[in-house]
Amino acid sequence: MIKVSGNVSEALITHLTDTANQIDFDGLSITTTDDGYRVETPSIEVSGLTHTDLLDYITTEELAPYATNWYHWESSLSELGRHRRSFLRHAEGAHNDDVITRYTALRSDDGCLTEWGEIQLIATLDDHGRRQYDIRHQDDKGTAPRALEIHTDPRDAREISTYDDRGRYRPLQTAPSLQTGWVFPDLDARDAVETINFLYPASIANWNLERNGELDITHWRETVDRQTGIYGVVEELPRSAVEWVAEACCVDSQCLKRREWQYTEDDQLEADGGTGAFPCREPCSLVIAASRRWTKLEEEDERTYEFDLTPSEKEQLEAIIDAVADGRVGEIREADVYEGANQYRTRFLRAKRVDEEGRLSGTPTEPSTDASQTQKHTADNTDHDETESKGELHEGDDDDRTNHAAETRPEGNTEANEDV
Ligand code: SF4
Repeated sequence: MIKVSGNVSEALITHLTDTANQIDFDGLSITTTDDGYRVETPSIEVSGLTHTDLLDYITTEELAPYATNWYHWESSLSELGRHRRSFLRHAEGAHNDDVITRYTALRSDDGCLTEWGEIQLIATLDDHGRRQYDIRHQDDKGTAPRALEIHTDPRDAREISTYDDRGRYRPLQTAPSLQTGWVFPDLDARDAVETINFLYPASIANWNLERNGELDITHWRETVDRQTGIYGVVEELPRSAVEWVAEACCVDSQCLKRREWQYTEDDQLEADGGTGAFPCREPCSLVIAASRRWTKLEEEDERTYEFDLTPSEKEQLEAIIDAVADGRVGEIREADVYEGANQYRTRFLRAKRVDEEGRLSGTPTEPSTDASQTQKHTADNTDHDETESKGELHEGDDDDRTNHAAETRPEGNTEANEDV
């Protein structure tokens, strides 16, 4: 049985006292007539209620869910931005289910579950119809809060999202590498959406804009055309390479956003855009920063080299590329010498095929075997890396990661908090 607090009664009467204010929300209708109040829900129709009757009536089992539901959304959260409000309503199925169905789900042991990126949010209800939210990593599903690190301040989510489980800096907040072992077990509605906005900035706003057909997408050409300074060169990246950029960075294994930007509005990329719950509306600053490097590298002409490799060694090189690209190197056991990217096999290959100057099969990179040429190539790359903040990539988000920010930021999706 839901208990109706004095706050609910007071807010309801205050609202109805203004005769212009009727209530028509989520299946609850209360109107003032010459006969008194008229109350309707999908299963109730009562009229001629006095003021006192109404206050008694909203505490009954059939009406209390509707009254507390109205109070929660239309009074308590009336000032919440439309994107946050829409997300929270989505999180309890309000876009599809009626109040009674939702209250049954919210009061069940499982509550209402929403998966968002790598996190899950569970909405539940207390005896007064107040919503509570539990936010944690999906890998910690079902773990008792006492076994996790408990947080109550949404701002803690910034720190949580900065490093992965191995303590490594995460340059992209939507990479599938969010650390585990923490929980925000009992948040109110405002703190719940605040926490999510720290973990996945602007994801709620962009999700809701997309739902409403209002998502403003900035495609690749438009984004690179507005780059200035050291990032201006990115506009020269060939279209074919933009496909590889999207394939390298924007697939589900690398980023949990669903890429909606294309080469241009009329020129779709073939690379998989992913299946994320929330969209990516513009090439992010990390992608632009990486593309600057690729633009330089793609300027080089192709050459034909000759290497001495056995068929197995050729396949081993391919296996190494696969393992590194898929982030599987750490999973390959030392004992598994059948894996091409196994450390012993790779060391064996290096001992056999890479000379003391680091050249595969002793083949020089430059056509001339002149060592000075090789040194020049290396020096060129070194100079370039130094201008790129030692080659590290950083998403130009607007949080407090200033220790990692490059001096000049690319113009890209920085995911500021856009909720309105
Ligand atoms: S451009 Fe968008 S989808 Fe691609 S990596 Fe950046 S945030 Fe993810």
